[in-house]
This record gives sequence, structure tokens and C-alpha cells, in this order.
Amino acid sequence: MQILNVDLKERSYPIYIGEDLSYGQLCRKALPKCQDVMIVSNTTIAPLYLDKCRSSLEDEGFKVATCILPDGESYKTVDSYMQIMTALISASFGRDCALIALGGGVVGDMTGFAAATYQRGVAYVQIPTTLLAMVDSSVGGKTAINHPQGKNMIGAFYQPKAVIADINTLKTLPEKERSAGLAEVIKAGIIIDGEFFKFLEENADKLLSFDVSLLEQIVYRCCDIKAKVVALDEREGGIRALLNLGHTFGHAIEAFLGFGTWLHGEAVAAGTVIAAKVAEDKGFITKDDVKRICSLLDKAKLPIDFPKNMTGSDFMRLMRHDKKVKSGHIRYVLPTAIGKSAVFSDLSDDYVMQLLETMR
Ligand code: NAD
Ligand code: ZN
Repeated sequence: MQILNVDLKERSYPIYIGEDLSYGQLCRKALPKCQDVMIVSNTTIAPLYLDKCRSSLEDEGFKVATCILPDGESYKTVDSYMQIMTALISASFGRDCALIALGGGVVGDMTGFAAATYQRGVAYVQIPTTLLAMVDSSVGGKTAINHPQGKNMIGAFYQPKAVIADINTLKTLPEKERSAGLAEVIKAGIIIDGEFFKFLEENADKLLSFDVSLLEQIVYRCCDIKAKVVALDEREGGIRALLNLGHTFGHAIEAFLGFGTWLHGEAVAAGTVIAAKVAEDKGFITKDDVKRICSLLDKAKLPIDFPKNMTGSDFMRLMRHDKKVKSGHIRYVLPTAIGKSAVFSDLSDDYVMQLLETMR
């Protein structure tokens, strides 16, 4: 087992990464005085991992309740949030209880938000079971639910007490979901760690096989990157924005197709390629670097082209809607080398629109 720390101003918390981790013991460490815990999961993950999680917690003396929600992004709603609240109130759980998020990013985001708000805030632990959740959503304390008019519109920054990434849970993850997680992994290399990108290239043929040691290294490196970025910028005022590489274009693709048509990671992959091509046009990176990015994403079975029926003006319209647009300027994260990136807010709509047209 490897341990990383997320060091924040007020406190720090550990990320445990390894195989067959003892959830109970690690939760006990994170929640030394806690008695009541509620595991929040969904109908796909519960049959696979709930029993193990529950008995491991009971072995450590926790009193365990559960709340099993329907599966899917479409249930990341105020209704599911209310279901968690009702389960907590019905179990008579007080402020000293804790929530355990057992699942992917959807379960993690909702559970985190429920923990942030139940009785003005209770402790929670993340047990991510998707690659995306391990490398991205479970670390950093962004929690949210969706509003019918926008994704993650209701939420809070609220850090967990610990993150427990058990690589073995990835065995049951569908390949398409593993690919989607790899989009965020590759993104991390591009924005900040050229060595890591190279490591991924060297292991490109094994990325989609279940290679525990490779996956463990990947999760470790990504969590390390994310922990450092979050420590520097907990509330996304500066450097944390770099993690949004590919996301401005990606969100536009997701919105154009209808959320859920492409997986988030798939849209991020195509969005990353667009950002790389803009960076090439600006002279920040070479054609060869763009090729390397495309080739690695392609090896991870991710799309490198955006939907061809999507026009430059579709992109602009949808990107202008994104909540990250500040004072009228769309902020683009662009690679300035493989392993370096920066935010640019001086690209005109016309310039980007025309460039997008040439990519169709
Ligand atoms: P997800 O939670 O929907 O999980 C994907 C699918 O895999 C689901 O059907 C799930 O039930 C299933 N699943 C999960 N673990 C499994 C396992 N071990 N075996 C078999 N099936 C399993 O999707 P995701 O990609 O993990 O997360 C996406 C969500 O994360 C989005 O809502 C996004 O907004 C959010 N997110 C949050 C942050 C953040 O910083 N908080 C960052 C990125 C993404
Ligand atoms: Zn993402």
C-alpha cells in the first residue's frame, strides 16, 4: 500500500492506494471517535463491494447503515441528495456520524455534498471504484449535485477525511469506463508532468489491460499531481484551473450531444486534442507533440475527433454558457509543451471559431 498526503492550510488527509485495502481499519484511522457511518453507493456497485465494505467497517466497531441510490449521472440530483438526507435522519444519525462514498464520481460527488450539508457538515471518506474517481474526482474536495439547467451547479468545497483507492475494484470496471478515466490520466501528464506522459507512452500497449502494478503507479502519480495542485490552490483561483485542460471544449461536446451520450472522459479526450491543435496554431507546441497526444489518446481507445456535425459556432455558443467563463472571456487551458500548460483568456471568438472550422 502507498500513502500520499493532501496538505491543505488547515489540515491534511491521506490517500491510500493499493490492493485489497482494509476499509475498516483505514476508516477507523481517519475517524477515530466515530460510531455511526452510512455507506452511500449505487445499485451497480453495491452487489459487488457493499458486503466487503460493510463487514470490514463492522469489524472495527462501526454501526453501519446504507443508502443505495439508482445508478447514473441522471440521478446526481436533488432527489438523490434528499434520499441520503432522509436515510440519515431516519437512522437518527447526529453530527458525529460519517458518510462513506463507495462508488465512482457520481456517488462521490453526491456523498461529499451530503456530508458538507447534513447538520452543517459531517465527516466523510471516499472509496472510489472507478479510475476517474481514483485519479480525479475523489481528491480535492469538489462536491456537487446537478441542477436541471446545469451540471454541478449546486455544491461545495468540502474535503474528505481520507481517500481509499483499492485498485482491485477496477477489475470489474467496464473497459469504456477505464478508457474514460485514462483521458484524465493523460491530461495530467500533458498539463504538468512530461515524464509521466512519457511513462504512459512507454506503457501504452498495457494501459487497457488489468495490470495492477501499472494501475497503482498511474493512480499514485495522478493523485500526487492533483494533491500538489489542490494544496497550492484549494478553491481554483489559479493553478488548479490547469486541470480543466480539454474540459471547456469537452463540456461543449457533452452539451451538444446531450449529457451522457459520450462519457465525460471521451469528450475530454476530443477536447484535449482541440486544445493541442489551438496550441500548435499559436506556435506553443509542435505538430509532433500534437501527434504524440493523439496517438496516446487513441491507444487508450478514446475519440480524438469531435462530432463532425458540430460547427465552430456551436462550440462558441455552448462554451459561452460554461460556468467557467469569467467577465466575458472564455479561458482556455492550452499546452505550452508536453508537461507544461497555461491559461489564456485573450483568444478571440472569431479566431477560435475559424480554427475549429478547419478541424472539421
Ligand atoms: P460514475 O460514477 O457514473 O461511474 C461510471 C459507471 O461505472 C457507473 O455505472 C458506475 O455504477 C459504474 N461503476 C463504478 N465502479 C465500478 C466498478 N468498480 N465495477 C463496475 N462498475 C462500476 O462515473 P465516473 O466517471 O466515476 O464519475 C463521473 C462523475 O464525476 C461526474 O458526475 C463528474 O461531474 C464527476 N467529477 C467530479 C470531479 C470532482 O473534482 N469532484 C472531477 C471529475 C469528475
Ligand atoms: Zn474531468
